[in-house]
Amino acid sequence: RPVPGRPGLTLAEQETIITESISNTTISQWSYYYTHGKHLAGTNKSTAEWTRDKWIEYGIPSHLAEYEVYLNYPVSHSLSLAIDGEEEFVAGLEEDVLPEDPTTGAKDRVPTFHGYSKSGRVEAEYVYVGMGGKRDYQRLVDLGVDLKGKIALAKYGGAFRGLKVKYAQEQGMIGVLMYSDPGDDGDITEGNGYAAYPAGPARNPSSVQRGSAAFLATMAGDPTTPGYPSKPGAERRDPSEFIPSIPSLPLSFKDALPFLQALDGYGLTAAEVDRSGWTGGLNVSYSVGPRPGAVINLSNEVDYTYAPIWNTIGIINGTIEDEVIVIGNHRDAWIVGGASDPSSGTAVLIELSKAFGELLEQGWKPKRTIILASWDAEEYGLIGSTEWVEEFATWAVPNMVAYVNVDVAVSGPHFHLAVTPELFSLVEGTIKDVPSPKAPGKSIYDEWVADRGPSRVRVPGTGSDFTAFVHTSGIAIIDLSFKRGPNDPVYHYHSNYDSYAWMTRWGDPYFAYHSTMAQIAAKTVLRISENVLLPHNVATFSTALQFFLSDLKDEITIVGITLNVSPLEAAISRFMAAAGDLMAIKEALEPGEWGGEQEAIVNERLGKFERGFIGDGLPGRVFYKHLIYAPGVETGYGATTLPGITEAVRVGDVKEATKYVGITAAAIDEVAKFLEG
Ligand code: GLU
Ligand code: CA
Ligand code: ZN
Ligand code: ZN
Repeated sequence: RPVPGRPGLTLAEQETIITESISNTTISQWSYYYTHGKHLAGTNKSTAEWTRDKWIEYGIPSHLAEYEVYLNYPVSHSLSLAIDGEEEFVAGLEEDVLPEDPTTGAKDRVPTFHGYSKSGRVEAEYVYVGMGGKRDYQRLVDLGVDLKGKIALAKYGGAFRGLKVKYAQEQGMIGVLMYSDPGDDGDITEGNGYAAYPAGPARNPSSVQRGSAAFLATMAGDPTTPGYPSKPGAERRDPSEFIPSIPSLPLSFKDALPFLQALDGYGLTAAEVDRSGWTGGLNVSYSVGPRPGAVINLSNEVDYTYAPIWNTIGIINGTIEDEVIVIGNHRDAWIVGGASDPSSGTAVLIELSKAFGELLEQGWKPKRTIILASWDAEEYGLIGSTEWVEEFATWAVPNMVAYVNVDVAVSGPHFHLAVTPELFSLVEGTIKDVPSPKAPGKSIYDEWVADRGPSRVRVPGTGSDFTAFVHTSGIAIIDLSFKRGPNDPVYHYHSNYDSYAWMTRWGDPYFAYHSTMAQIAAKTVLRISENVLLPHNVATFSTALQFFLSDLKDEITIVGITLNVSPLEAAISRFMAAAGDLMAIKEALEPGEWGGEQEAIVNERLGKFERGFIGDGLPGRVFYKHLIYAPGVETGYGATTLPGITEAVRVGDVKEATKYVGITAAAIDEVAKFLEG
C-alpha cells in the first residue's frame, strides 16, 4: 500500500525502522511456539501452515511447496552387552525426562535413532574406533586389528556421522554405535566441577545426538531423486549408494560407558594407536578391543516410506525481477524442542517478516525480490531446500544473487560466518553496525575479531541448506550463526535438551542474541536488496583464490608429488586483473542510479560470475559441481578448496590432479572473461 506523497525510504531509514521493530519479546514468543510441537519431517504440516499464515499476516504472499520424499522413521531399538554368554548391560537408549524441562517428556518425543539408518539386528564382538574417521579405521587396519564382522563403537566429532558408518561398512564391519563424549565439551564438564543440565551447564549424561547417517559429502536431497525434484510420480532411483547398508544407533555417554569399560585392557592401548583425539573425558582407557567373548547385540528397526514434506515460501516482489535474494532456515527437527536447531533461526525469520511487514505498511517495495523460505527435511539430508532448488533450477535459480542461511542461529554467544568470498566484506560491514548484546560500546565485529584472531574467509562445506544453492548452482551464500565456545554452557545438539527450557536458562535467557541475529540478517538482506550496485566484492574473491592456490601448493609439498600448476596461476592472474578492473568501474559508478545501463552490466557480472565455477560434477559425486570449494570428502562439514585438484593430490593421483588443474584453470579463465565483458 504506497503512502500517497511519501517519497521512497532511504536505506538508512529502512534500517532504522527495522532496528526499532525487532523485539526480544516477540522473538521469544515465536521460539516458544516452535519448540512445543512435532517437528520431524513429514509430521510438521501445522507448523508449515502457521509460518505461511504469519507471513501473510505481515503482508507477504506465501504458500507451501510440497514434495514426496524417501525417509525412515524409528519403530523400535535395543542394545545389550553380553560377556561369555552372560548379559552384562542393557542400554536404556532414552534421554531422561526432566521435570524442569517439560518437552523432554512430550508424548510425541522422537526415539533416539539415525536418519537413513539401515533396519536390522546384528550381534558381534566390537572395537572402539575413536572418532571413526577414514584414517582412524585405516590406522587400526595398519596395526593388524581385524575389523571384519565386528561392530564399531565410535565417538561423535570430526567427520559427519554418516561417513563414520560409510567407512565402517567399507571395512566389512556390520554395525556402528556413536556416542557423545564429554571430553569434547571443552571446559564445561562434570569432571571440572560443573553440574550437569538442568542443574548446571554441563552435558546431561543421558543426552543423545540423533541425526542423519546419509553420505552427505556425496549428495544432498532425496537420495531416490538425485538432481531432479521429488514430485509425486517422479522416477525413483536406487538410493543405496547414498545411505548406509549396516545398522547404527546413537548413544549417550551414560549408555556408552559400560561398553568402553568392558574393553579396558583388551587389544591395543590408546598409546599404541597414537591418534590425536583418540581418548575422551570418561574414566576409561579407550582401549581398542576386541575382547574375546564380549558381544554386542544391536537392533535398529526403522520404517522406510515416501512422506510428504512442506517448505513454506514467502515472496516480496521487488521492482527488479531478475535479481532475487533468498533467506531461509529449516523448520524440521529431530526433537519436540529444537530451541537452537532450528527454531532460533526460525524465530529470527518470523521476526524478520514482522519487521519487513512494518516497512511494507509504510509503502515499501524492495528493489530486488526477497524470498523467505522455511525448509522441511533438512535434517535427513538438506531435502526441502535441495528439492526446491532442483525444481526451480531453470528459471528462478538463475536470477538469484544471494542465499542467506540462519540455521542454528543461536547456540552460544560467539559469531560465526561461512561465506562465499565475494560477500565477506558485506557481512564485515554489517556486523560493524550491530552492537554486542553483552559488551557496551563494542560491535559484533569487534568481538568476532577478538575471538577468531587473524583468519581468512571460511568458505562453505555442507551441513545446512545453503548447500544446493552454492554447490549445484554457484549462488553466493552467507551462513550466519552464534555458537558456543569451550567456556559456554554445553549445547545439547539434536537432543531433547535443546529445548525452550535450556535456551531460557542457559543458552540465551533474554533472547538478546536472537534479536542481534535478526538485526544482522535484516541489514544483510536490505544491503543486498536496496543498493543500486550489488555489494558483491569480486576483488575479495581473487584474494581468496590466491590463498587457495597457496594451500594447494602446501598440500602438494606435504604429499610429496610433482604437479604443474602454472595453468592455474595464469588463470588466477587474469581473474585478479579482471576483478580489479571491474571493482574500479563499480567505484566510479558509486552511488549509481537505478536502471542505468552501466549499473546493470556491473550487477550482472558481480551477481552471476560465480555460476561459471559450476562444472559437470566432481569425481564420484556429481551433485557437487563447484570447482572452487566442496565439502571435504573425508570430513563432510568442512570445505576443501580447489576440490577436484586437492582431493586428487591427497590420494597421490597426479593424473587426476593434472586433469583438474586443466578443468579448474579453464573455468577461472572463463569467469575472468565474463568479468572483463
Ligand atoms: N544439519 C544436519 C546435520 O548435520 C543435516 C545434514 C545432512 O544430513 O546433510 O546432521
Ligand atoms: Ca531430488
Ligand atoms: Zn539445523
Ligand atoms: Zn540439525
